[in-house]
Amino acid sequence: MKSSQSSPADGPGTFDHGGGVRSLRVPIPDNPLGHTLVYVVDTDRGPVLIDTGWDDPSAWEALTSGLAACGTSVEALHGVVVTHHHPDHHGLSGKVREASGAWVAMHAADAAIVRRTRGTRPERWYTYMADKLTAAGAPEEHIAPLRTTRTRRRTLPGLAPALPDREIVPGEFLDLPGRRLRAIWTPGHTPGHVCLHLEEEHPARLGGHGRLFSGDHLLPEITPHIGLYEDPDDDTVTDPLGDYLDSLERVGRLGPAEILPAHQHAFTDAPSRVRELLAHHEDRLTGLLALLSVPLTAWQVAERMEWNRPWDAIPYGSRNIAVSEAEAHLRRLVKQGRAEAVTGSEPVTYMAV
Ligand SMILES: [Zn+2]
Ligand SMILES: [Zn+2]
Repeated sequence: MKSSQSSPADGPGTFDHGGGVRSLRVPIPDNPLGHTLVYVVDTDRGPVLIDTGWDDPSAWEALTSGLAACGTSVEALHGVVVTHHHPDHHGLSGKVREASGAWVAMHAADAAIVRRTRGTRPERWYTYMADKLTAAGAPEEHIAPLRTTRTRRRTLPGLAPALPDREIVPGEFLDLPGRRLRAIWTPGHTPGHVCLHLEEEHPARLGGHGRLFSGDHLLPEITPHIGLYEDPDDDTVTDPLGDYLDSLERVGRLGPAEILPAHQHAFTDAPSRVRELLAHHEDRLTGLLALLSVPLTAWQVAERMEWNRPWDAIPYGSRNIAVSEAEAHLRRLVKQGRAEAVTGSEPVTYMAV
C-alpha cells in the first residue's frame, strides 16, 4: 500500500512524512533502482540523515538541492546514520562529513567491511573472485576475464568508502537529541545492516508502533539481494539467508505503523510484507531442493534457478551476483539438513538429502 503521494507543497524530489521526517530522492546513475530515499530527521541539534546516496556529481546535486528545499543545508547537518555499507547508501557520507563536520555512524560488522575494502588492492579481489567462481563450478570462459590485466585495470566503484566515526550498537538509542531512534540489527543483506526504529507516535496516528527506517532490509515491491558475506580474509561458513529470515521475523514483530524504506516508497502493514517475503524464500528453497535430485554445483544451480530474465540474457556481473545468491540458498538448505555436499566432489556438488 502506497502511503506517500507527493503534494504540491513538497519541493522537487522531496517529501514531508510529518513529525520532523522528510525524504529526498537521490539518483543512482545507470541503475534500474533509480534512486535512494535519503531521510532527513530533525533533532534538537540539527538535522540527521539516514543514508546519503551514491557518490556521483548528480547525486550530490540532488542531495544539496533537496536539503535546501527542506529549508536546511548540508552544512547544518548534525550526523549521518548509515543503514549499511553499500555505495548507494554510504557513498556520499565522506563528502557530507567534510562539508558539515557531522559524525557518521555504522554497525561494527559493516564498518569492518569498509576498513577491509580500503585496505584491499583490486587485484586481491579479482583473484578471490576467480578462486571462488572456480570452486562454484563456473566455466573457464566466465572466469578468464578476471585473470586478464585488461579487466583488472578498470577501477572498481566504492574502493575508498568513508570510515565511520561512531558505532551503531544494536538495541540502543542513537544519540539524536530530542528523538527516540533505536537501532535494530538486521543482518542478511549485509552482516551489519541495521533498521532504525523511530519509537514515537505516528504523526497521522496510524495504528502500530512508530516508524521504521528499513534500509534495504524490507522493501515494498522487491526482494533485496541475499548473497554471501564476501570476505577474502575470512573463510567462516556464514548463513546470510538464515540471518536474513531471522531478521525479517524480528522486524515483523516490531509491528511498526509505517515503513520508510531506502528505495521505492513508504508503506504500511509490515507483518504482511514480512510474511510474503518469508513465503517467497521458502518457495525458492523448495524449488531448489527439487533441482537437487541430481548433484549440481552452485553455478549449475544458478543456471537453473528462476531469475527476472533467462540465464542467457543475464549480463556478466549479474551472473556473479546470481551465483552468490544460489550459494546462500544452498547453505541454508545444508544448515537445515535438507541438502548436503557430495563427498569428494570438486568443484563441490550438492544433493537433496
Ligand atoms: Zn544494499
Ligand atoms: Zn540499496
